[in-house]
Amino acid sequence: MRCPFCGHPDSKVIDSRESKKGISIRRRRECESCRRRFTTYEKVEEIPYMIVKKDGTRQMFDRQKLLKGLMKACEKRPIALAKLEEIVEEIEAKLQERPDKEMKAAEIGQFVMDRLRDLDKVAYVRFASVYRDFRDVQEFKTELDTLLKDK
Ligand SMILES: [Zn+2]
Repeated sequence: MRCPFCGHPDSKVIDSRESKKGISIRRRRECESCRRRFTTYEKVEEIPYMIVKKDGTRQMFDRQKLLKGLMKACEKRPIALAKLEEIVEEIEAKLQERPDKEMKAAEIGQFVMDRLRDLDKVAYVRFASVYRDFRDVQEFKTELDTLLKDK
């Protein structure tokens, strides 16, 4: 890897660290000429992940959109952003394992709801009310009642 400071073509790796979910590798390098240090990241070439909607159409998985949805559900709740990023990473890891790189929207929704249910009941209900298609108000109310009884 060419040194960004002096342009020398060779550098040696002094440290490699894999990210939590193994999605990227960070390498610290040292230029063999000027000895200055720089960082490179290695990532698997991104294959677009697809979400299969109920009607069978596909939509590209958008991590930012999912994270935003989670943040909205957790607004003013005592939940660290890192926790939400973890949920998104878990879904990405699942998608990566799938041979077809696809997941049903309902499956993702269910996974997120399971996680939120453990984290924060209010966030769970907020997310569920948006993500899950409650057939009617009664169904939503039943779900709420079940949750409240759990306490
Ligand atoms: Zn150099």
